[in-house]
Amino acid sequence: MNNTPNEKHSAQWLSGFITNFVVGSPLNDFGLAEKEKMWDIPLIGFSRGDDPIYREFKHHIGSFYWTPQEIFELTFSDIEVDLHDLTVISWILPQTRATKDENAAQKVYPSRRWVMTRDSGEKFNVALREYVVDTLMQNQVPAVAPMLSPHWSRQTSQRYGFASFWSERHAAHASGLGTFGICDGLITPLGKAIRAGSVVAKLQMPATPRPYQNHQEYCLYHSHGTCLECVERCPVKAISADGHDKELCNNHLRKTPKHILKKYEIEMDGCCGLCQVGVACESGIPSNPSSA
Ligand code: SF4
Ligand code: SF4
Repeated sequence: MNNTPNEKHSAQWLSGFITNFVVGSPLNDFGLAEKEKMWDIPLIGFSRGDDPIYREFKHHIGSFYWTPQEIFELTFSDIEVDLHDLTVISWILPQTRATKDENAAQKVYPSRRWVMTRDSGEKFNVALREYVVDTLMQNQVPAVAPMLSPHWSRQTSQRYGFASFWSERHAAHASGLGTFGICDGLITPLGKAIRAGSVVAKLQMPATPRPYQNHQEYCLYHSHGTCLECVERCPVKAISADGHDKELCNNHLRKTPKHILKKYEIEMDGCCGLCQVGVACESGIPSNPSSA
């Protein structure tokens, strides 16, 4: 396949068809009595396959963690590729106001809309990944969604515990879309109540600038020693000034399916997200109250 850059393979073209899918797809709907979108308009960014940040992720997370080149070569063993031939296309799907308000009113377990965005909302995110890959392939651009790869798995990272071979939030961070909070959520210009997705493509494109100096810059606790609102929101004290205790969080998540099935009749893995709503970084990059 030819990957010569042309107008059709531009950031505008990519952002256009991704946004149109999110805005226009009938799959982006809660399926309630009245039509209601699950996801607001997405934010889209790009990073290059030769960006050293991907090797840094591998260094920090573990040797099993994929660089864009590794997942591309695993998928297309017959295509020669150089690091600079690859682009990571990353998107942020923001939760709607209705979902955020509903979950912000919860004290222990997640609300119905929040649960639905983790269930059928993530199915929509899978459909979006498939759509992006299909559209690129139809336009002679080899592409793979790492999270949908049959090679995808998880392993134990010495530093971070159970970790995935690919992280959508890390791809988004590399693609200029946000930095991490103390709860491990990604704080984006549209806030932290989001889901993310990505595709690796054999396509040369300029990277989206990263308007931050470090990976935690948008978090008020990291930048100014203030806030800690997510600490207050967590029902099981899994967040502290020291960060996110994955084990405590997972213990709580394991209890949620029973509640979700009983209350909403939805069968799914655990979810919570109380720390992502009703906090300073819920819907945007928070500003330091003392500088207001
Ligand atoms: S709520 Fe405050 S402390 Fe927690 S991640 Fe957001 S900005 Fe950081
Ligand atoms: S998702 Fe985890 S860290 Fe966040 S509020 Fe729920 S239990 Fe706490």
